[in-house]
Amino acid sequence: MFNKSKALYEKAVELMPGGVNSPARAFKSVGDHPLFIDRAKDARVYDVDGNEYIDYCLSFGPLILGHSDDKVVEEVAETAKKGTTFGAPTELENKMAELVIDRVPSVEMVRMVSSGTEATLAALRLARGYTGRNKILKFEGCYHGHSDSLLIKAGSGVATLGLPDSPGVPEGTAINTITVPYNDSESLKEAFDKYGEDIAAVIVEPVAGNMGVVPPVDNFLHEVREITENNDTLLIFDEVMTGFRVGYNCAQGHYGINPDLTCLGKVIGGGLPVGAYGGKKEIMEKVAPVGDVYQAGTLSGNPLAMAGGYHTLNQLTEESYDYFNELADLLEDGLKEIFGKHNRPITINRAGSMIGFFLTDSPVTDFDSANESDLVLFKELYQELLKEGIYLPPSQFEGMFLSTKHTKEDINATISAFDSALERLSK
Ligand code: PLP
Repeated sequence: MFNKSKALYEKAVELMPGGVNSPARAFKSVGDHPLFIDRAKDARVYDVDGNEYIDYCLSFGPLILGHSDDKVVEEVAETAKKGTTFGAPTELENKMAELVIDRVPSVEMVRMVSSGTEATLAALRLARGYTGRNKILKFEGCYHGHSDSLLIKAGSGVATLGLPDSPGVPEGTAINTITVPYNDSESLKEAFDKYGEDIAAVIVEPVAGNMGVVPPVDNFLHEVREITENNDTLLIFDEVMTGFRVGYNCAQGHYGINPDLTCLGKVIGGGLPVGAYGGKKEIMEKVAPVGDVYQAGTLSGNPLAMAGGYHTLNQLTEESYDYFNELADLLEDGLKEIFGKHNRPITINRAGSMIGFFLTDSPVTDFDSANESDLVLFKELYQELLKEGIYLPPSQFEGMFLSTKHTKEDINATISAFDSALERLSK
């Protein structure tokens, strides 16, 4: 069933580390080798062996209109005919900036970059430059890209100074990153009691999406906002994943909280390489060339990426999010029923078009509880679901994504696929 993928993978490992250009694609926790993709349309993806799947990975989130949306493809192609990059401003950049400022409540001014990693890295430099402080605080299990300051292993319990998560991250950098558990405002307060005057910024995924999907509990985000405000620390919402997925006005609109800076990526590129950071004008005007915090990019605001992003955001409406909720309700109810039927535990977390399921019956509210999920069963289930034509993100710690092109029939087919997969696993 996967012969061509296997052969391509065997060649790829000789050419690229692990055969991939990004580790999350390597299928390390769910199988022997990744599937090589030939093409995709709407909610369907087709591998090189000709197998068809309903896709809930959607390139790890960007494709909120599904694959190869007609309007996006047409506009990107038309734009390419006029030139792919100029190193000079274009009207499309103005249109894109206006749209982002209009939709994202706290953003008054924005700077485009080419990835989520660049967006968070630049936002942190800006926060440090603006406050004159060195330390930053992140939450355990939140991923903000692979820049040195953010690639820090979380300590256990209360606030711990970070240890490098990867060789190559200097200790001198790690020492300035504090980590506390997600959804734990008591630990956050303790960290601020100890280091408050040195903390330039708290960076948080308003809905965590990189330990599976873990929404904020009760008042967590409001408390984070209050603590940062009281300490003159900037609050950065990393909405690279949640932006335009959790709601029409992003997670900040949904939860009614205004961060000082916001990072965006994924959906705002519509499948092309884009990131952005933005926020209060007073802070953004600290960025070069107006201010002295330097940040630049040869391909920043690239016309193709602006066309992809603009025509993606422009097709989303308030109703798109009602539709995502309808589909997610259907999937949640169906999965709970099927898991009940097979006597298997499941916990489902959701936020807009992000859905996470964990193979445990305990609530999942942070990285430790996410790790309670049965990873062996996840791997087995993953393989069975591939045979049933369902393509999930290849890790327990990645959420499932919906697009406007997924249908109720797709959801019902997915529920039946889980039923058959669990049936086989019970034998
Ligand atoms: N921030 C969050 C919340 C993400 O989920 C990701 C990527 O998954 C990033 C930042 C990094 O974005 P990129 O992979 O585009 O560099």
